[in-house]
Amino acid sequence: MNESLLLVEDEEALRMTLGDRLRSAGYVVDLAADGEQGFEKATTLPFDLVILDIMLPRSNGLDVCRGIRSAGLATPVLLLTARGQTSEKVLGFKLGADDYVTKPFDTTELLARIEALLRRTASHSGKGFLRIGSVLVDFRGTKVTRDGLPVYVTSREFQLLRYLAENAGKTLSRDLLLREVWGYEIGTFTRTVDVHIASLRQKLEEAPRKPKLIVTVPGFGYRLEIS
Ligand code: CA
Repeated sequence: MNESLLLVEDEEALRMTLGDRLRSAGYVVDLAADGEQGFEKATTLPFDLVILDIMLPRSNGLDVCRGIRSAGLATPVLLLTARGQTSEKVLGFKLGADDYVTKPFDTTELLARIEALLRRTASHSGKGFLRIGSVLVDFRGTKVTRDGLPVYVTSREFQLLRYLAENAGKTLSRDLLLREVWGYEIGTFTRTVDVHIASLRQKLEEAPRKPKLIVTVPGFGYRLEIS
């Protein structure tokens, strides 16, 4: 399964070369050229990881990072800092960044950091298959198909789907999902769950606004229905 990354970098040459390098390393890559665009994409699309330059026009990387966390999203953030910006690194961690790489960096090192960060957020691999209506989930191959056609899901969406599937028929609260799928403490980032559920519905449901697979239990949480 290919993880999806958002690269927010204003220097066009670096954005392009790094974007290509990440794609050739097997990632699905989306790009943003300034802070506002980066924030917009990071909070409306489900990425597995965000690579965020600090020095950006319109809204700097630290503000974007703070904004992502304030929006309730737990997407891992890797900061690109300039040499000597020690105070910004410290501030970055306080604002919820997960790691940083200092510019100019070796691409091999950046790739290793990305891999490590994704590994930290990925869960153990499951087993078997699950069929829910026209949707087939292959836990071993971490693949999802709908009506026989491949459906792209991010690694976190896959983990969420697996947890829902393992507990099919049970109503699960947002807090429980957050703790079990993301490893976060109760009460934080509950919007993260809603964003990922909405995205899974877009990909899996025939009518995402009238979901039949992943249903909302008002005032409580979500339930995966198996017919
Ligand atoms: Ca920059």
